[in-house]
Amino acid sequence: MTNSTSKGILHIEGLCAKISGKEVLKGLDLDVKKGSIVAIMGPNGSGKSTLANVLSGKPGYEITAGKIEFNGQDITDMSPTKRGQAGLFVASQYPLEIPGVTPIELMSAACQDLPSEELMRRVELVNKELSMPDSLMERGVNVDLSGGERKRIEILQLLALKKTMAILDELDSGLDVDALELLASMVAKASKDTGMTVLAVTHYSRLLEVLIPTEVHVLVGGTIVRSGGPELAVELESTGYKEFEKL
Ligand code: ADP
Ligand code: MG
Repeated sequence: MTNSTSKGILHIEGLCAKISGKEVLKGLDLDVKKGSIVAIMGPNGSGKSTLANVLSGKPGYEITAGKIEFNGQDITDMSPTKRGQAGLFVASQYPLEIPGVTPIELMSAACQDLPSEELMRRVELVNKELSMPDSLMERGVNVDLSGGERKRIEILQLLALKKTMAILDELDSGLDVDALELLASMVAKASKDTGMTVLAVTHYSRLLEVLIPTEVHVLVGGTIVRSGGPELAVELESTGYKEFEKL
């Protein structure tokens, strides 16, 4: 049983959501404790990105039942901007191009209270670790960038803006092994140092060897079908998702 004192920083109850008339999330419950690292795993098409997109408030999704609470506040109908201001950051599986807007301009707009000198100081610090070439900062966000460079830009925003919670949709896609280790270890360090909460969505366990979760949940057919500790990710690496697809 849950009560208000035991709820985590992200609390989802009975979430049902549709996209283009198709019901994708079918009564999803999830509770993520503040400061923890939690993984959502599942086969292709199980609803992982739909969950991440619904949590970001992306337009086009219809929530037909259930609710989402973040930091004790009901955000089910909140705009994406307000969710961001509340400290939630969703790193997309396929980050979009924003021509004409540089990463700095985007971050300034997202965090207007942050003095620009402080933003520049943080960007410089994070970029040094990311080995981000200056040229990427002069272009429009993600314009003509490789998959791996786009993921770097996502992590730059997450860490420079010091978000309270990161939802990472397939951070591993488009990254080679070295880049994956670098980005995952930077996220793990931020979680350890600042208490940032992480919900990592993936279908491979490789990411979770660096970004080590305390809980792993398996999402199949729009609902959580099994939950366990980090050993569940290792088990799924060898068994795959066949047993769940028969459910
Ligand atoms: P995952 O991220 O787990 O691979 P998704 O959440 O992307 O899965 O997709 C779940 C299901 O919803 C899939 O069957 C997919 O085809 C469908 N879906 C996702 N986005 C749309 C959309 N915009 N229109 C119609 N169907 C969609
Ligand atoms: Mg996906």
